[in-house]
Amino acid sequence: MSMAAHGNGDELVQALLAGGRVRALAAVTTRTAEEARWRHDLYPTAAAALGRTLTVSAFLGAMLKDSQRVFVEIAGDGPLGFVRADADPQGRVRGYVGNPHVHLPANAKGKLDVAGAIGRGMLHIVRDLGVGQPYRGYVPLVSGEIGEDFAHYFMYSEQTPSVVAVGVLVDTDGRVRASGGLLVQLLPGAGETLIPMLEERARALPPVSRAIDAGQGPDDLIGAVAQDLDVKILRRLPVRFSCRCSRQRFERALVALGEEELRDMLDSDGSAELVCHFCAQHYRFSARDLETLLAEATKREQ
Ligand SMILES: [Zn+2]
Repeated sequence: MSMAAHGNGDELVQALLAGGRVRALAAVTTRTAEEARWRHDLYPTAAAALGRTLTVSAFLGAMLKDSQRVFVEIAGDGPLGFVRADADPQGRVRGYVGNPHVHLPANAKGKLDVAGAIGRGMLHIVRDLGVGQPYRGYVPLVSGEIGEDFAHYFMYSEQTPSVVAVGVLVDTDGRVRASGGLLVQLLPGAGETLIPMLEERARALPPVSRAIDAGQGPDDLIGAVAQDLDVKILRRLPVRFSCRCSRQRFERALVALGEEELRDMLDSDGSAELVCHFCAQHYRFSARDLETLLAEATKREQ
């Protein structure tokens, strides 16, 4: 198993197969998914849903450049509500779900019932390319298992035949034991015969979470699907759960509420506690903090 030089050991590998006709990305995201699990107190089915989504988000992020970002939302009618995640080209991902305390009985295959937790709904992807309007795409969910839903998205929204395999293995103590995935995409002009072959190979593989639990890394996952095809590794990227929130951002948001609202807050509660949706970090503001912010808001409104 290859380890990233920095970070928590989670890694994403980007490669080209078959003389550049096929793009392959594979990642181990065990520690990233486990961080999401403890930050949000996710129950096993919810942890699997967010972990799978974070892995695909990391793939989408890795295909962007510079300061571009991608935002993903899976909005379903099941008990989980929604799954939201975003990612950047540096391997930083973050995300959360509507209801973290979702755990359903195992499905007919004995696996975590992510489809049951998500239900029917839509998959939205927004790419902020840093210039002009963000690029938005959406498709109805085909299964709620996430991997298939993204494959459907790539095919129908972006005309890119793709194989997506993502998985999360949750241990008996509720922690994420293994997480990661594989994305294989046909590039324009690749020819029609490659995708059924790659799909067939991906189907024949053991579940990715099992492979990762057995110690396989991104290179092994790519190798298993590439087989006789030539592999050119383009990039290795550490993946980690990382949020952009800060106390300063929340201070600015409070000041932006304005003098009246801040005064109300001070009079009724005497203090404030704000929570970042994405990472569940709590920010506490004492009466004294609020008074300082109120003075700033007052100054601004004069
Ligand atoms: Zn945050």
